Amino acid sequence: MQEKTRIIIVGAAGRMGRTIRRLAEEEGDFVLAGLVDREESLGAVQAGSIPAAASLEGLGTHADGAVAIDFTAPEASMATARMAAAAHVPLVIGTTGFSEAQKAELRELAQKTPLFWSANMSVGVNVLMRILPELARALGPAYDMEMVEIHHGRKKDAPSGTALALGEKLAEARGWELEKVRCSGRDGIIGARPKEEIGIQALRGGDVVGVHSIYFLGPGERIEVTHEAHSRENFAGGALRAARWLAGRKPGKLYSMQDTFEPTANEQQ
Ligand code: NAD
Repeated sequence: MQEKTRIIIVGAAGRMGRTIRRLAEEEGDFVLAGLVDREESLGAVQAGSIPAAASLEGLGTHADGAVAIDFTAPEASMATARMAAAAHVPLVIGTTGFSEAQKAELRELAQKTPLFWSANMSVGVNVLMRILPELARALGPAYDMEMVEIHHGRKKDAPSGTALALGEKLAEARGWELEKVRCSGRDGIIGARPKEEIGIQALRGGDVVGVHSIYFLGPGERIEVTHEAHSRENFAGGALRAARWLAGRKPGKLYSMQDTFEPTANEQQ
């Protein structure tokens, strides 16, 4: 029988934190080793004998042998990642909205402790990451590429981390850099659309969990690919799967969901 994975949820009072906790308790393959959230939110998450603290560091030895899962905000996740690196606690991060400098620091911290970051933990989106570049290459430069993403009204960052990650894949397939070709707003007399452009527009409202539609607009036809997340459980399940995968891995690179699809050296033999 597979050993249970000890997990710590950072951002335990949040939408994702609460979903991960519920799923972990339902699945029964996990042991809740600790809960972390802001001091003022701790009352809402404290339950029974599960240790709770305002930081990963605050959990002390309760973090030994556990994998932390952090869905909070960029600054908070960076602080958690520094603490995880210092204490050699493996860490799965699902937070989006990191700056390039923060991502570079995460790659450095990944040399000290097993570190995993994916802007989207769903299997479907990660398969899209693989097939979109193929579509872009097969269709060729005559097909313009545009994207629309929709999320609930409380989301803080736009475009979504997933839209940017998918956009980077599309840009790479054409030999472009996303930040040089991204257009995230059109208004007024904008003139003809440049050929080297990828439009990514963000819609916000209601309780939409996450929709990403990618359009390939060509001569006389268009192809649309849409991924729609029906519930947060989809991401929470991916985060738990990532935590189980990360337990026992070595530091050395910033892992992502794509790595969990690669066969291990043993499986390849
Ligand atoms: P939320 O606002 O509901 O929850 C965030 C939680 O983090 C809150 O409970 C808050 O108190 C806590 N927090 C903030 N700063 C903290 C700190 N310094 N120390 C401890 N706790 C702190 O947000 P959410 O909807 O759960 O989303 C959280 C993040 O996850 C966002 O960046 C979102 O974009 C991302 N997200 C990623 C995926 C994915 O698949 N990777 C899926 C959904 C959401």
